[in-house]
Amino acid sequence: MEIAKTIESVRNLVKAARSQGKKIGLVPTMGALHIGHISLIEAAVKRCEFVVVSIFVNPTQFGPGEDFEKYPRPLDADLEICKKAGVDVVFAPAQEQMYGAENLTWINVEKLTEPLCGRFRPGHLRGVTTVCAKLFNIVLPDVAFFGQKDAQQAIVIKRMVADLNMPLEIVVCPTVREPDGLAVSSRNQYLTQQQRKDAALIYKSLQKCQEMVESGVPKTKEIIDQMCKLLNQIPSGKIEYISIVDAETLDSIDQVAGKVLAAVAVRIGSARLIDNILIDTSKQ
Ligand code: AMP
Repeated sequence: MEIAKTIESVRNLVKAARSQGKKIGLVPTMGALHIGHISLIEAAVKRCEFVVVSIFVNPTQFGPGEDFEKYPRPLDADLEICKKAGVDVVFAPAQEQMYGAENLTWINVEKLTEPLCGRFRPGHLRGVTTVCAKLFNIVLPDVAFFGQKDAQQAIVIKRMVADLNMPLEIVVCPTVREPDGLAVSSRNQYLTQQQRKDAALIYKSLQKCQEMVESGVPKTKEIIDQMCKLLNQIPSGKIEYISIVDAETLDSIDQVAGKVLAAVAVRIGSARLIDNILIDTSKQ
């Protein structure tokens, strides 16, 4: 496995692989790798002959007062995980490689970035799309892999790729969960033991939503009220949003119909945790 710290070196490695006719896969990450990331890498290894994992804690997707400084950066452990998983190149650039003194060019996907996390983290998704566009331009992958865990991010990136005719395919992989249902996240390590236990209620609330939809409750308000009751049982929890939206447009809906996305964001102690499920009512 190669470790590329510069744009030039990753470009040269990818160029050599492409000249051998290899399909290039990219898994963009911020490091602190866990089984969720590994599932993306495994999907990439299956689909592509040459897999690049980027590890970059992107400053432009963190707002003031967010956890950019304290975000975990266990690079040696991450490299070990990548090696074991069959990654060909880890691209781990320094900040100066990715951004000059002042960035003047941004990618902003309209409308889809307004609800859900967009409402509570202004500029976050703009930072994500900008860094992904940069990574796509640097690596030129045939396929890039993202997690359903960050549902809005995946939808926004797909839209950016479609609207800007970027020549790659976006694959979205299922959310990997702990045995109690909590979505695996690098931010789970901010939780105390008690908070970690309580955090299982996040997925429980989404399961409640699924059950209510399956039992034919049509009104999203009624469902959200029940989810709210469950999430309010987290003593140190503060609900940021509980939303049931159209899974493609992310528009709010009053009645459950077609493909819907139920998504929640909750602050527990110093951690901001998000999770979601997709429900296709036409299949029920
Ligand atoms: P991050 O390092 O948090 O930026 O995440 C990098 C990629 O891993 C994103 O596409 C995430 O959606 C994905 N990811 C993070 N956690 C999980 C998980 N529990 N299951 C599946 N994918 C995940």
